[in-house]
Amino acid sequence: MRFLTADYLFPLHKSPIKEGVLQISDKGEVIALFENRNEIPQNKLEVFNGIICPGFVNAHCHLELSHLLGITKKGKGFLNFMTTIQQRNNFTKDKIQIAIENAEQQMIANGIVAVGDICNTPDTLLQKQKGNLQYYNFIETFGVHENNIETILNTSIDLRNQFRAVKMRATIVPHAPYSVPIKLMKKIASTFDAHDKLLSVHMQETKEENQLFENKNGSFFDWLNGMNSNASIWETRDKSVDILQELRNKKVLLVHNTFAKKEDIADNYHCTCPKANLYIENALPDYSIFDTDKLCVGTDSLASNDSLSILEELLIIQENSNFDLNTLLKIACKNGAEALGFEQLGSFEKGKIPGANLIQNLDGLEFLIESSIKII
Ligand SMILES: [Zn+2]
Repeated sequence: MRFLTADYLFPLHKSPIKEGVLQISDKGEVIALFENRNEIPQNKLEVFNGIICPGFVNAHCHLELSHLLGITKKGKGFLNFMTTIQQRNNFTKDKIQIAIENAEQQMIANGIVAVGDICNTPDTLLQKQKGNLQYYNFIETFGVHENNIETILNTSIDLRNQFRAVKMRATIVPHAPYSVPIKLMKKIASTFDAHDKLLSVHMQETKEENQLFENKNGSFFDWLNGMNSNASIWETRDKSVDILQELRNKKVLLVHNTFAKKEDIADNYHCTCPKANLYIENALPDYSIFDTDKLCVGTDSLASNDSLSILEELLIIQENSNFDLNTLLKIACKNGAEALGFEQLGSFEKGKIPGANLIQNLDGLEFLIESSIKII
């Protein structure tokens, strides 16, 4: 049994507690919270400087792209990024596996306990089976032509089944509105069953994506036309978010939303990946438009980020929003756990096993560049 206390405790299902105490079992299960340190015998208390919050949930990552660290150039825009990502296969299997293992280690050291992870390959399967972190795997599906839809879908079903065969959560999802014609979207929707609790879709990551649907022109339009893409992609949709109706009203986590407007925000979960947005587009979402009970945060992959650290992401959000520390931590822990369906994680509610992060070197109740994290 342990009794942990710091300057502030952030349980997240209730208000922060100044000098509160978290009682956990040796397995990390939350037993009780105490408002006052004096209730606990002093020799049993572990007293820390800083704040204590639950383990972080990284709501959006592509662990299998970890070997692409440093390959893409910053600030060159999304189309340039996509071209560079196509180098992903020019590496040995060993290199890819080592990068995956190191990236997972980095997430653990940074206080992350669960991940919403995009998969195009089975590359991460071995590492994930070690059970170091909890994952919801999103099997990403795309194809701009209509003639090979069956093959694309069968490949996705096969990959999903590989994950499910080892008892891992896996759901087939569309990559983005601009990369999935209506016919393929219908096929994806036809694969959903009771195990598919959540979908994850890249959304409004670039200005050009909005331009494609709203004006039927721009560089995405030219790019798709250059590949002879199926015109139903833009002809049947007037906005990016129109695809939500095609997804059978499943619970959806929309990722990026960098160029989302207030009227695009419906009752879905939204995930922001600020460092990746700055890396690729040098832009950030307008944080005032989101419902802070449904906003999550992700690192995206090491192809578009130099680290997998939720604390670093929060620092950027703090600088560009009016969110207080409790809201930032809800975004980092509770909301992601709820979106991804990790019921044991996200808050210090009794009976959960959420992990405990100690964050130090704050300025009062604000993060600083110097702020650091330790798992306790
Ligand atoms: Zn992504």
